[in-house]
Amino acid sequence: MTSPFKNRIGDAWIGDGDVTENINPSDLSDVVGLYARADAAQAADAIAAARAAFPSWSATTGQMRGDILERAAAEILARREELGELLAREEGKTLPEAMGEVARAGQIFRFFAAEAVRAAGEVVPSVRPGVSVEVTREPLGVIGLITPWNFPIAIPAWKIAPALAYGNCVVFKPAELVPGCAWALTEILVRAGLPAGVLNLVMGRGSVVGAAMLESPEVDAISFTGSVGTGRQVAERCVATMKKVQLEMGGKNPLIVLDDADLPAAVEAAVNGAFFSTGQRCTASSRLIVTEGIHDRFVAAVTARLERLTVGHALRKGTDIGPVVSQDQLEQDRRYIAIGQDEGARLAWGGGLVECDTKGFFLQPALFTETTNAMRINREEIFGPVASVVRVRDYEEALAAANDTAFGLAAGICTTSLKHASHFKRNAQAGMVMVNLPTAGVDYHVPFGGRKASSYGPREQGAYAANSTPPSRPPTSTPEPFPRQRRARPAPAPRDAWGRRTISPTLLP
Ligand code: NAD
Repeated sequence: MTSPFKNRIGDAWIGDGDVTENINPSDLSDVVGLYARADAAQAADAIAAARAAFPSWSATTGQMRGDILERAAAEILARREELGELLAREEGKTLPEAMGEVARAGQIFRFFAAEAVRAAGEVVPSVRPGVSVEVTREPLGVIGLITPWNFPIAIPAWKIAPALAYGNCVVFKPAELVPGCAWALTEILVRAGLPAGVLNLVMGRGSVVGAAMLESPEVDAISFTGSVGTGRQVAERCVATMKKVQLEMGGKNPLIVLDDADLPAAVEAAVNGAFFSTGQRCTASSRLIVTEGIHDRFVAAVTARLERLTVGHALRKGTDIGPVVSQDQLEQDRRYIAIGQDEGARLAWGGGLVECDTKGFFLQPALFTETTNAMRINREEIFGPVASVVRVRDYEEALAAANDTAFGLAAGICTTSLKHASHFKRNAQAGMVMVNLPTAGVDYHVPFGGRKASSYGPREQGAYAANSTPPSRPPTSTPEPFPRQRRARPAPAPRDAWGRRTISPTLLP
């Protein structure tokens, strides 16, 4: 039996016992690898190693930390194809999608390599005489990172890179389904020069490893991405143990299509947003809210586009949509397709299993029409290649339907009306708003996050990620070294011909 890929704890690769079989969802006979499964004691060791590494790592210069991140970025970008193949094999994204995600991870490390030397503070005058105030950012300590399976390298990258750049130590727990990219990323960072204990990898179950991280008093903060249900438990445990917490969770993202939309552009935005990456994106356009003047043409064009898409093996040339990630997720998708039919929605296209020459979790994208926003398929996150069309009268009704949801991650509108686009940007209750674009697809240098049940705590990515490791000590105030000079009294304004004081022109706006 091949030896498993091991956990990284302190300066050692550990774990010969329990393993996870990492199976390719495009081909269930393909075992990507065996990955060690950590237990609670190993999670505790990883936390202790991070705690021990913190004093010296937090005292390093931004230059040193940035150099390590830059070396990792360069390697990730150089190995884009190979890492993309690993990602496509374990998660099921198509190879081009997977390589795009790997490139994004490299760009994120490069961005935070530069941010590491940019860390800045402020010196401001006090409200007290003779005192000045310094506001500085300090590393927080040990950060626990818990990630989902759908972006196996980009989400770990956008959590690990800022945590390390700002001088924190990390305990990283990836999702059980995708240990391969997590292991590869950790190995790259270790070889890039991270000292022992600064980054620890503990692959394993959420209920064991994740729970150990939540309970430990030695973990100062948790950054979590995953479902709302798990996120709620994470928040409760973090509050109980007084940890800082950041949660990114699910979505039920609306894409509005108005009568005046450019039809081909709207169809592309809808098909890409709803079905690419097999619909397994938190920002997926799962609710297509369409005004009645364009409704029938839009449905016909989307259906025609879906007919031309190829569902198949993620690594095969010509595949547009890879498999669903797992048996459980496939069952969830099919359960919701049945729920939609029971609720009276019309299954206008797809929803059936697809036969390929390999055994995998292949599902035709499913498009529902004649749905209402009250149906469960429009209220609950399905997280698969399933989208529904909601027919509305006009923009006002579309906006109301878009906002009538517990979630608030991303929202989009397809229109040629500046008035409606501008109004939507201000009034969509979502963290990210797109115009004539899919709801999915974001930049890495700007804040990422949602509203309502989709997010909790500070934003991720870009310079905003610094707020997820807030200053760990209050501003410091210092008496000024020299007593303040007495200001010279300004000369009195000259008098006019009537003996009145004139107003100095420099005081006027
Ligand atoms: P999940 O909630 O099942 O698991 C997420 C992580 O939490 C995994 O690592 C899991 O092992 C861990 N976990 C599970 N139980 C735990 C516990 N009791 N204590 C601690 N950790 C625990 O989510 P998933 O199925 O991996 O991912 C899909 C979800 O993630 C979807 O809801 C999707 O919308 C969401 N997501 C959100 C974003 C975002 O940025 N908003 C991005 C990607 C995915």
